[in-house]
Amino acid sequence: SGTLTVGDLAEKLNKDSSEIIKKLMFLGVMATKNEDLEKETIELIAEDYGVEVEEEVFVDELGIETQVEEDDPDQLEERPPVVTIMGHVDHGKTTLLDAIRHTKVTEGEAGGITQHIGAYQVTENDKKLTFLDTPGHAAFTTMRARGAQVTDITVLVVAADDGVMPQTKEAINHAKAAEVPIIVAVNKMDKESANPDRVMQELTEFELVPEAWGGDTIFVNVSALNGEGIDELLEMLLLVAEVEELKANPNKRARGTVVEAELDKGRGPVATLLVQEGTMNVGDPIVVGNMHGKIRAMVNDIGRRVKSAGPSTPVEITGLNGVPQAGDQFVTFEDEKKARQFGEARASRAREEERSQTSKVSIDDLFSQI
Ligand code: GDP
Ligand code: MG
Repeated sequence: SGTLTVGDLAEKLNKDSSEIIKKLMFLGVMATKNEDLEKETIELIAEDYGVEVEEEVFVDELGIETQVEEDDPDQLEERPPVVTIMGHVDHGKTTLLDAIRHTKVTEGEAGGITQHIGAYQVTENDKKLTFLDTPGHAAFTTMRARGAQVTDITVLVVAADDGVMPQTKEAINHAKAAEVPIIVAVNKMDKESANPDRVMQELTEFELVPEAWGGDTIFVNVSALNGEGIDELLEMLLLVAEVEELKANPNKRARGTVVEAELDKGRGPVATLLVQEGTMNVGDPIVVGNMHGKIRAMVNDIGRRVKSAGPSTPVEITGLNGVPQAGDQFVTFEDEKKARQFGEARASRAREEERSQTSKVSIDDLFSQI
């Protein structure tokens, strides 16, 4: 069965759901907006609009594939959880990210130079975890706004000497809206004024109730400053990951999301990509947002060159013809020509959209002057 709903398909085709529903009725299919469509039905409708459907995947007008066929369960393999850290300003997000990285990366990877590529991986009890290193809220909102869901688990950092603050609430709302499980890290436990009970008490208002009080939220007391509780936090994250049964098929073309991107003076456009499924290789043709190219080189989070990257792995790539945006989706292709075609189609589509927006604005401006 397909993984696209009527509403999803309408959005992909840039049509009203009602129009799609009407077309479906002509085909004898009675469907509501939230109904999943069979692959064959998707193909029929897409063809009707002159949109090409590839063998295994449905490719929308903009060239980004939507997985239609579910992965063969035998092909699915466990993958590391992708973790985002959120919380109020000054509650210790950056310090905690650094502490996790330094206690875990440097000890195992002798000689590894930490490289800031926007995401990193650590190992705990022989299992990997991936952390997004970008400012939590911004990453979450820009990515979510662009339809990208990359976070599997959120660590909500709350300073034990300060308690729940406005951005704490915001973070809870983001995580809940995205249906991402939350682990609470009660930070700054080294401080005299630390009051973890008050934090727990305040969070019960947001349905984050500790297990000790009959709820199901995991709370871990930590000090990002002296490293207390960090191992326990990582263990708890792995526990949640296990419950969530995070899996992906590494044996197909790669698909994923841009974590960050910039123009480097020497290397040209560089983008940190998080592979979400499949495996990406140096030399692969790729479409990233409205940009395209061929992967020239890949560097991991400790600055080493790698030849391939599987699910949940962040890597920095070069070889694109321009700088994509955080939250953009990427897909690798087997065929270079196809990647270029899709890339160019996406780019011209983006230019058109921009032009029509500018002309709308100028017409509005005109009216406002009358
Ligand atoms: P962010 O705004 O959430 O990224 O917070 P930062 O990581 O920048 O931390 C804000 C301040 O709190 C800095 O001065 C940190 O040194 C301090 N801080 C962070 N974690 C701890 C901790 O566990 N204990 C203590 N005493 N201070 C901390
Ligand atoms: Mg910070």
